[in-house]
This record gives sequence, C-alpha cells and structure tokens, in this order.
Amino acid sequence: MASDTLSLSAFYHQFPKADLHYHLLGGVRLETMLAFADKYGVDLPEQEAKCYYRAYQHEGSVVKGGIEALTFLYQLMREPEDYYRVLTEVAEDAHACGVRYIETFWNPSDTALSYATVTDTLAQAIEDVEQRLGLIVRLIPSINREKSPEEAVDMVNAMIAYPHPYVLGIGIDYKEHNAPVEHFWKAYALAQSHGLRTTAHCSEFGLHWRNVETGVELIHVDRIDHGYTLIDNPELTALYAQHGIPFTVIPSNTYYFKLWPEHEQWAMNHPIRTMAKAGLNIIPCTDDWHIHDTTSANCYRVMVEDFGFDLDSLRQMLINSIEACWMPEELKQQWLTEWTTDFDRLRGTLAAEPVIAPHKLIQYCRAR
Ligand SMILES: [Zn+2]
Repeated sequence: MASDTLSLSAFYHQFPKADLHYHLLGGVRLETMLAFADKYGVDLPEQEAKCYYRAYQHEGSVVKGGIEALTFLYQLMREPEDYYRVLTEVAEDAHACGVRYIETFWNPSDTALSYATVTDTLAQAIEDVEQRLGLIVRLIPSINREKSPEEAVDMVNAMIAYPHPYVLGIGIDYKEHNAPVEHFWKAYALAQSHGLRTTAHCSEFGLHWRNVETGVELIHVDRIDHGYTLIDNPELTALYAQHGIPFTVIPSNTYYFKLWPEHEQWAMNHPIRTMAKAGLNIIPCTDDWHIHDTTSANCYRVMVEDFGFDLDSLRQMLINSIEACWMPEELKQQWLTEWTTDFDRLRGTLAAEPVIAPHKLIQYCRAR
C-alpha cells in the first residue's frame, strides 16, 4: 500500500464522528476501576473486575452485565475528582477514534454526591478537554427507571434549581421491563416545560414496540435510544421514517448477541438492517464503550463489515448524528460542512473501498 493511502481501519478511526448515546460510566477503563477500588480500600481482585468487561469475560465463569457495571461504579466513585478523571479519559479515548462531539448520560440518583457538585466537576473536565483536544462533550442527566418516578421528578427539580449551559436535556435508562417511559411522564413534562431536550431508552431488550410509540406520541421525546422492535410494526416504522425521528442504535447491543449467538445470523437478522432499509433516521453509537468492548471506530466498522452498509450510508449516518444533536443550529450547519468535507477527503485517500457481498449490501437512504 502506498504511504499516502489510507487503510479502512485508519479511515474508521479518522473520519469525524458524534456519539449521542454514551453512558459516561460505560467508558471507565479497567485500570481506572481498579484504581478507584484501591483508593477506597475496596477488595476487588483484577479477575473480579474483569467480570464487568466484555473483553475479558471469556477468562472467567462469572459474567456481569452493563447495568451491574454501572451500578457498581456509581458506588465506587465517591469523590468529585473521580468524575473528573472518568470524563477526561472518556474524551481521550474518543478523541483517538476521531470523535468530535459526545452527548453523555449520567445518573444523578445513583451517586451520593450532590447534583451541583458532579455537574460542576464534569463541566470543569469538559472545559479542560475541549481546550486540550478540541473535543466537545455535553451532558444528559438520565433517570434510573429502576427507581421511582418521584425520584425522577426530584432529579429534574435538581436540574432546574441548578441550570448549566452544558446540560442539554434528560434521558432514561436501566432495565425497562417493569418501567415503561409513561411511568415517568411527570419528570419529562417538567423537563420540557423548562426548555430541556428529551430522549428515552425505549423497546430495548426485545420489549414491545408500543414503548417507542408511547415515547413519541405521549412523552414527545426528541430522540429514541434503541427502539429496535419498532420494526415489528411496519406501519408505524414507515410513519416514523417519514417524520425523521432520530434513533440512536447500538451495533454492540448485548440482547441481540444473546438472541443470535452465531455471528452471521446475528449480522443478517439485526434490526438495524431492517430499520435502515425502512429509511428510519438511524445514528450508530457506542452505549458502553469499555464495558462492552467497543469504540466509535469499531461501531462504524461493524456497520460496514458485519451489517453490509457502504460508505455512502456511513456518510448519511454521520449527517444524521449532527442533525440529531442538541447543539445550536448555526454550529450544526458548520459541522455539516466541515465534517462531510473531511469524510470525503479521507475517503478519497482510501487504498480501496470496502468489498461487501451483494446479498448483504445496504445502500442506506433516509425516507423524506
Ligand atoms: Zn444505553
């Protein structure tokens, strides 16, 4: 390969990206988890810590999920400086993958620290990394739906009492099974009445498509996180494709790995392919970066190599991510020009475009 050409791997790392579905604590490195345990005298052998990280889970017999990892980390991180460290490392890892913008979730109800303290600390880290790396991070406090709807209202009240320009909206995450988004209507209505943007994890874990419908029709969220089972309702899928409702989708979503352990079956059957074919507004994201052993570069690599999207599709998803983010319109227009220019320039230096099997190829277009 000539030295002035780019490998596909380098391309996935270098083109500009926005990650709109990133759980801050999902990006805690293994060594950082161990350092926190050491700092607070928590007995955590390395083998036990590895149970939370998909990269190492083959080494042991115990496997812990993403939600368990986040719950454990919130208990482990006891001082503001821990949040500073995590956000800084998250930004460094993302920057190495070409990420220029992150909207990150964190759960105020899960820490003993005050909302204002954590917000100030994260804001300081955001300013420092922006100055050093040029990467921009913004915050989405998120409802832990395993707790009560009243605690969710408390969270929003804390946000209203301490507004911050880096805090753009609210989300909801954790286990959805007994906690559909409508239980939290009051927190959402309160947030919206104070000008906050909204997103919600809906229809994750194979749960019914009505959770997406409720999120859109009743709660009026700006975005849906996951939303895969919407495809079980083709009429609603077509309608939401027409309306351009943004869906942050996660190629490394654990549920579908479990549903189809065989690689090719997983890749061909994944709802992301069907969502794309229906013209939905999809945005590939990472969810839990280190915990789920993925990166932003890997996320887009999977879209091509496993799901069969061509590079024009990736370019459209990149545009989707900018359009769906919650930054000022003027800046978004600037990013659209700059980022697509960079994407096209880098693509022009590729040694070769990816080769995709015809039975797998998807040329993604959004419904208009
Ligand atoms: Zn998530």
